[in-house]
Amino acid sequence: MTRINVTKTFLPPIEEYQHYLQRIWDSGQLTNQGSLVHDFEAELRDYFSVPNVHFVSNGTSALQVALRALGITEGEVITTPFSYVATTSSILWERCDPVFVDIDPDTLCIDITKIEAAITDKTKAIMPVHVFGNPCDVEAIDAIAKKHNLKVIYDAAHAFGVTYKGKPLLSYGDISVCSFHATKLFHTIEGGCIVVKDKAVSDKVELIKHFGHHGDDHYMLGINAKATEFQAAMGLCNMKYIDEIIQKRKAASDLYDELLSPEYHRPVKNPEAEYNYSYYPVLFKDEAQLLKKMEQLQQQDIHPRRYFYPSLNTLPYLTSVQDCPISEDIAKRIVCLPLYADLDEDSINKVCRSLNT
Ligand SMILES: *Cc1c(COP(=O)(O)O)cnc(C)c1O
Repeated sequence: MTRINVTKTFLPPIEEYQHYLQRIWDSGQLTNQGSLVHDFEAELRDYFSVPNVHFVSNGTSALQVALRALGITEGEVITTPFSYVATTSSILWERCDPVFVDIDPDTLCIDITKIEAAITDKTKAIMPVHVFGNPCDVEAIDAIAKKHNLKVIYDAAHAFGVTYKGKPLLSYGDISVCSFHATKLFHTIEGGCIVVKDKAVSDKVELIKHFGHHGDDHYMLGINAKATEFQAAMGLCNMKYIDEIIQKRKAASDLYDELLSPEYHRPVKNPEAEYNYSYYPVLFKDEAQLLKKMEQLQQQDIHPRRYFYPSLNTLPYLTSVQDCPISEDIAKRIVCLPLYADLDEDSINKVCRSLNT
């Protein structure tokens, strides 16, 4: 039996990676904004149709640098409880307080009708997540932020390649952040990027990601969030395949849609979006059914993942109790089925047969 995992990292032909390795050997420069990082950032600017993009070490440091660059070093940040832990941990790590607003049960993104009630005089920013690549209501969030003078940082870790009303989703918000981790749709082994609307904020990101100094002039507290030439090389290779990767994932998702029993509910997709097929989440009736079906799949060496569990408002190291009943309920009964570019039809059949019985 071949093991089927929730995801499988795309690897480009090795000769193509070697071509870039040769450039690294020729230049002798391994990191510190070398020519491959330079080239890759140019491709990202083009891909997202934005002027300011920074390629950084990972998606978590991207979120942290984003908060710093917007001057958010204390106070409350409104966020969603239904995400990967890095969304919440980056807020806590920057010594801010996460304020959780429950999710919309259809889209699984932050419920925009509940945001305003959570705003206090300590609120500095909103950090929503385009969870599973499904766009948040960006217009409503923008209007709320403007009205209350708040910054918006989108955790767009799942949203590479998604367009909303014809525009790359990463171009929304004061800042949008993506993750290029090996488990994500598009990867650079480890890595991430920060897309910044305002040029002055972008200049701050540039400083902060590089220890806060240019030469011997020190301007502000910084950190090391630089990406290496080796990561940029992987990005340049994978960029050539991204359309093909998304097409193949679409075909796999379509087959799931066709074969999977309608008993299983799926998040409702935003009709104005061109989706990236980054995940295939499925909702069970309750946690008991989820555990039973997971067990059944594991017996066939099929390994879906409980994305995202537990609901982040229940993390044990939070200091305040905040209830988010919808997120807590959904987190207990959702899994992501295996989905990757070369997942074959037999495997999808096998997963569906097991779930449908
Ligand atoms: C993966 C992920 C991150 C963190 O990205 P890394 O590159 O792994 O640090 C942040 N937010 C979400 C929603 C993620 O899925």
